[in-house]
Amino acid sequence: MTSRSSNNNDSLIEDTACTWTIEPSIVSMRTNNPIRNIVDKLNEKDLNPHKTKISLSIGDPTIYGKDFQTDQQVTESVIETLKENKCNGYANSMGREDARDALAKKFSLLNHTLTKQDVILTSGCSNALDLCITVLCNEGDEILLPQPGFSLYTTLVESKGIKAKYYPLLEDSNWEINLNELRKLINPYKTKALLINNPSNPCGSVFNELHLKEILKIAEEFHLPIIADEIYNGLTFNNNFIPIAELTNIVPVLSVGGMAKNYLVPGWRVGWILIYDKCHHLFKVRDGLQRLTTLILGPNTPIQGALPKILLNYDFTNFFKKINLLLKDAANYTFERVNEMKGLKVLKPEGAMYCMIGINMERFGFKDDIEFCKELMKEESLIVLPGQCFRMKNYFRIVTCVPLEVLKEAFDRLNDFCERHYKE
Ligand SMILES: *Cc1c(COP(=O)(O)O)cnc(C)c1O
Repeated sequence: MTSRSSNNNDSLIEDTACTWTIEPSIVSMRTNNPIRNIVDKLNEKDLNPHKTKISLSIGDPTIYGKDFQTDQQVTESVIETLKENKCNGYANSMGREDARDALAKKFSLLNHTLTKQDVILTSGCSNALDLCITVLCNEGDEILLPQPGFSLYTTLVESKGIKAKYYPLLEDSNWEINLNELRKLINPYKTKALLINNPSNPCGSVFNELHLKEILKIAEEFHLPIIADEIYNGLTFNNNFIPIAELTNIVPVLSVGGMAKNYLVPGWRVGWILIYDKCHHLFKVRDGLQRLTTLILGPNTPIQGALPKILLNYDFTNFFKKINLLLKDAANYTFERVNEMKGLKVLKPEGAMYCMIGINMERFGFKDDIEFCKELMKEESLIVLPGQCFRMKNYFRIVTCVPLEVLKEAFDRLNDFCERHYKE
């Protein structure tokens, strides 16, 4: 250990003193982020030194800044709150009451009036997901997850010793759930929850009313609560997002969301759980959730304190219009460019900030999507995520929350790459 060699005391440590190691816990060792394992294989040292790096891999809209910056009033609200010096202490573990009130007002639906009792603030939507999964599932239980899907679901579930059952999303029907397969995966004794993600990361799809009703029918039949990851609820290009809770008075829904994506501030770490449960199926689960909040004590209080201003005092209609228009333009541009390329296909995204691009692998000389992405990086310095990060072979995911000129350059390079490697 060279870093210690300057320490004169080192010479006093006996040889045998350094021969034992401390074992990490079982939970820590079964915590794996599948993205990390795959991305580690795409070594940035392998980029083409003659081309600037373009990254379409990370779902963080702030990376390229410029168009995708939060509204000035969002920032001002936090600055004001900080200056008031009233939000520097601990809050209730479920969150500040004024913030929960504001969220209840904002997310009440025609059929569900929320109160602050139905709202829990969390440290990002990730923490909201963690609490919902933990409160519903014991070790050995089963949970239904989308495939392709956001990799954090797998990480959370496996780390807790819960068994993930993956239901397929069908590209041919707009990335809707294959309901027959979903039904077959349900074990009446072991399955404890159905997790859906709408609008979808990584697909960029948005479920329609009929499909949401079909999902609810199955949940009702098997008495399954739904964890609805609706973090992209504000990011749809045709204004067609429907919160699943709006379509049921019976099935309990834990809707999770946060500021990260809608307000373009993922680093602020503010998320929430909204409990829609008219029939009180979850009255014991509420107690469990409250207990779990005492572990982390919610998100930072200055931003909690700013939430009422952000949600109720200001009108961000124009901001959301602008962001959705940018994302829609990017979606349309992606759809047109990619479908003209040899060996690739993509559906037109309708929401969120991603899409899955299918690779006709037989036409390329590559083993799989990982090798495709690796070569793309080496030759074109273009970084995208292999579909396997989302449990979907022979696809790759791109993010669309980047300036159009970046997308244009990326697609020029992707097109060159496909032209070079495609075999007629
Ligand atoms: C980004 C993202 C999250 C996590 O949000 P944070 O608030 O940053 O923790 C959760 N679900 C999906 C689908 C996401 O894309």
